[in-house]
Amino acid sequence: MISIQNLSFTYPDGTTALLNITIDIPNNSSTGIVGANGAGKSTLVNHFNGYFLPQTGSISIEKDVINKKNLDVIRKKVGLVFQNPDDQLFTARLYDDIAFGPENLGMPPTEIARVVEASLRDINLWELRDKPPSHLSQGQKRFAAFAAVLVMNPTILVMDEPTSDLDPGNRRKLITLVNSLVKTKITVSHDLDFIWDTCQRVCLMNNGRIVADGPTGKILGCR
Ligand code: ADP
Repeated sequence: MISIQNLSFTYPDGTTALLNITIDIPNNSSTGIVGANGAGKSTLVNHFNGYFLPQTGSISIEKDVINKKNLDVIRKKVGLVFQNPDDQLFTARLYDDIAFGPENLGMPPTEIARVVEASLRDINLWELRDKPPSHLSQGQKRFAAFAAVLVMNPTILVMDEPTSDLDPGNRRKLITLVNSLVKTKITVSHDLDFIWDTCQRVCLMNNGRIVADGPTGKILGCR
């Protein structure tokens, strides 16, 4: 379970992006986070793996309270797929981007080779493993960013606008892939069809607050 208690966050320029957020996200659940541009969705989810650290309030993942000393533990459990795949792909070769996390964990080389190949094959990008990520299409970059996270075998997956660059066929493939690999998911999206298809619960944000929280049908109304 992810437990968030009284979380607030203000950017250095004085913009308050989160105001006293308190929510629990149980294991084996799939939660959507929706709201207008600027509501605070990205700021909130960027806290879930310690990419942002709480200024006020706290977040815990099971018994681990997120702080700068336990980020390795947290990041093994929580995978965060950023809104922009370019923020996640930074080496000169796709293969190296996928290997980066496992190498950081100190996995043995033969194990790294095995999990990286499996991840690249899962997303049908094995043939492109020697390409620079910058030469991939936007959709391919999106899948590559997922592979870089899924290769770590996270127990919780946090996705920020995962379907942005995907056509309907690839959107379906992404849903199938993610559902087969991770049970606890949190998705920020404007793609309400995607939320309907993948989330049982929805949190609606406005001005840094959660203003509604409940079953998807109740919060989003009729499809
Ligand atoms: P959402 O993901 O819902 O669109 P964000 O979390 O990106 O919202 O932004 C919440 C608020 O924080 C907005 O008012 C936005 O302008 C502001 N904000 C986001 N990033 C920064 C930043 N780096 N510096 C200052 N303000 C920011």
